Amino acid sequence: MSQNNTIKVGISSCLLGKNVRYNGSHKRSQYCVEELSEWVEYKPICPEVEIGMGIPREPIRLVEMGGQIRVRNVTDHSQDYTDPLTDLAVSKSSSLDELSGYIWMQKSPSCGFFGVKVYNENGMPGPDPDQGAFAKKVAELHPHLPMEEAGRLNDAVLRENFLTRVFAHAVWRQSVQSHPTPKSLVEFHTRYKFLLQVRSEKHYRELGRMVGGAGSGDIKSLSESYFELFMHCLKQRAHPGDHVNVMQHLLGFIKNDIDHATKHSILNLINLYQEGVVELLVPITLIRHYAEMLNVEYLLNQKYLTPYPQRFEKYNQSQFKEKYFIS
Ligand code: SF4
Repeated sequence: MSQNNTIKVGISSCLLGKNVRYNGSHKRSQYCVEELSEWVEYKPICPEVEIGMGIPREPIRLVEMGGQIRVRNVTDHSQDYTDPLTDLAVSKSSSLDELSGYIWMQKSPSCGFFGVKVYNENGMPGPDPDQGAFAKKVAELHPHLPMEEAGRLNDAVLRENFLTRVFAHAVWRQSVQSHPTPKSLVEFHTRYKFLLQVRSEKHYRELGRMVGGAGSGDIKSLSESYFELFMHCLKQRAHPGDHVNVMQHLLGFIKNDIDHATKHSILNLINLYQEGVVELLVPITLIRHYAEMLNVEYLLNQKYLTPYPQRFEKYNQSQFKEKYFIS
């Protein structure tokens, strides 16, 4: 991405180490601050500070009252912050259009995105969790924006899924959204073909049908429908067997230009991935290595092999080659 096309990601301010929590502390996320920051520009927001609650402040929580979930002061339920928090999300909505993702602080009645505790009026936690009031409204106003909680980014599969969606969202903005033409849509779909296929064959085929009709009708509205289903498809979890099928298919593009022993090594690593012995990155890196060496442009354009930059930075290339005996 060029400097002008920096990927912008919203984030709960306390995750960047800012002392904005109710007790004046922070919840610095090492991953967000030290790793992901290399690739994205953060747009931090602390909604509680922005609505004027101050630092320090009395703690708040989600409370169910009269069938409604409200954000209230923990001890004094007459202090209600629900409307200011949702109003803030509405007032910031247009400035959030520039984002390609959002990372939330878990458990917060303002920022939590999954399973925030909801208490009853007697102070007991109820059975049905909800979302923080600010996060909930932002998600409602930006339904296709990739969102995740910082704590969940410690899970490799969830992290990979989130990053794939963030970078795809950014590529979409820069390619199709800024130039919605049949050509830009077809090119985008072609690059994401295998990433879609590995997640959902059904959605991949439906998206292919939409792209097939790109030459007729209103391309802008078709693009919007495409993007909605595209982001939904990327949210699906890919299973190891589906990755194996896709990697074997990709191997077909280079198999006639590599010797038998090399082909055997790649197939062996694909099997080891399926058995859980090596991570997905290993056979993918090997396939990409040969795609680069043989200059197979179709493969090199595939986002399946490079959905986001970290994937290949994680391994020192020379160490990788030594370990897996690549010439
Ligand atoms: S969780 Fe949200 S509201 Fe709470 S301190 Fe962090 S940024 Fe502020």
